[in-house]
Amino acid sequence: MDSAEPFERLCVIGVGLIGGSLARAARAAGACREVVGCGRDPAHLKRAQALGVIGHYETDPARAAAGADLVVLAAPVGACAALLRRVGPVLAEGAIVSDVGSVKGAVVEAARAALGPRFPAFVPGHPIAGTEHSGVEASRADLFRGRCTVLTPCAETDAAAVRRVSAFWKACGAQVVEMDPAHHDTVFAAVSHLPHLLAYTLVDWMAQRPDAAELFDFAGGGFRDFTRIASSDPVMWRDICAANAEAITTVLDGFRAALDRLRAAVHGGDGAALEAVFRNAKAARERLTDGES
Ligand code: NAP
Repeated sequence: MDSAEPFERLCVIGVGLIGGSLARAARAAGACREVVGCGRDPAHLKRAQALGVIGHYETDPARAAAGADLVVLAAPVGACAALLRRVGPVLAEGAIVSDVGSVKGAVVEAARAALGPRFPAFVPGHPIAGTEHSGVEASRADLFRGRCTVLTPCAETDAAAVRRVSAFWKACGAQVVEMDPAHHDTVFAAVSHLPHLLAYTLVDWMAQRPDAAELFDFAGGGFRDFTRIASSDPVMWRDICAANAEAITTVLDGFRAALDRLRAAVHGGDGAALEAVFRNAKAARERLTDGES
């Protein structure tokens, strides 16, 4: 089968920002012929249907997945194990299962346990695209355009399934890279999970101070830029922390040591040390954003 051939029936479980955007992108690109949505709340799914994101819906994951040739889990990471246990037994012959979770090692292990002999049909994925907004209303057909999607296949993963999922993401506008699941979790603990925890902690710490109202009155652009991602969904981030606890703990320890060094430099009036940190950070950030508008 040609890897770029459209899927007949895409089943998206979790029609929110990412699942809704994937459904929109796939429909717009002709990468699937029909989309079945699944979630817990029929009101959310009716809204997704009214917006033209999904064709029809089921609230039962097994009913939704039956007859689909691509099932994508796009619910919070903590829901994936139970969903995979529901979906596994009804998977059609030759069907592929994938996900969009921000953590890969824990989801891969959940899939291995839940899918048993069908585990090679599981192609783990993580689109590096998103916003701090949640729900289908925030979904966009162009969310993945020019962005990267990481696939983290295992030794057992069916190579043809990886090629099809890769072609599907490319049709949706993404560039695709492959990575080992554990390596993915180490990288994203640093570049994504740590910044979210820092933003959440800063806002929470400020909000709990007795003078919070005055502080927030004077919070300017810098504070808003730094803390935008503290508006992200708390359940999603609770699940990410639970699923990637070891890698996140390691980066928190490293960052705390860096913060301790910075504190010592501030307290000791070590301007040279502070300037060195700021210069290094400024140069690294300029390299990162070089070429961005
Ligand atoms: P979202 O907008 O909150 O959407 C999640 C959807 O999942 C909701 O529509 C919710 O609908 C449904 N859902 C929740 N629990 C469920 C369950 N137990 N069974 C079935 N459906 C369930 O979240 P999102 O931002 O799209 O994130 C979804 C996934 O994408 C997460 O795994 C996250 O790690 C990953 N991700 C997010 C981003 C980002 O920037 N947001 C980026 C990359 C990857 P109901 O309430 O109606 O069930």
